[in-house]
Amino acid sequence: MSSSNAVLANATIREYRDLIRNQDDEFIKQMPKVEMHVHIEGTMTPELRWPLAVRHRIPIPNPRTGKYCRDLSELKGLYDLLDDLEQGGVEGGMLRFFELYYGGFDVLRDEEDFYLLAMNYFQRAARMNIRYCEPFFDPQGHTRRGVSLDTVMKGLQRAQLEAAEKLNACTETSISEHIG
Ligand SMILES: [Zn+2]
Repeated sequence: MSSSNAVLANATIREYRDLIRNQDDEFIKQMPKVEMHVHIEGTMTPELRWPLAVRHRIPIPNPRTGKYCRDLSELKGLYDLLDDLEQGGVEGGMLRFFELYYGGFDVLRDEEDFYLLAMNYFQRAARMNIRYCEPFFDPQGHTRRGVSLDTVMKGLQRAQLEAAEKLNACTETSISEHIG
């Protein structure tokens, strides 16, 4: 199957994406929601990844240049996967997606990092009035890098408690390990 026939034109995807991003409907925003099966590591944003990388002195490679990212705006550019779709087709886009997804794990080292990751998600969830959510995390993705399960859980649970206490959303949260 030719990948170029299987997907919408990138210009169309960009147009839909911008339409959704610019959607500002109060009714939809205020509607109570649930969010099931959230891969918490996948909620990593470049805006969070950059300061964590700076704090831990972890350089972030830019596969498009073969060098390291120099600043946040360069890193943000990598998160526009449509550029990679244009150049590498669906396979190229998927490869970049997984590079970004697993690359984001690198900056998660201590309890504070996991706390910040989860709080970043809970704050966005609160703005969307998500009342119940089920974040999952990937235990092996951290233990194989030498980060203990205890570190991961302490950070995530501290965020969960604080979100339930201070944010008027996500009052019901179930955090589980994603095995397999
Ligand atoms: Zn899953």
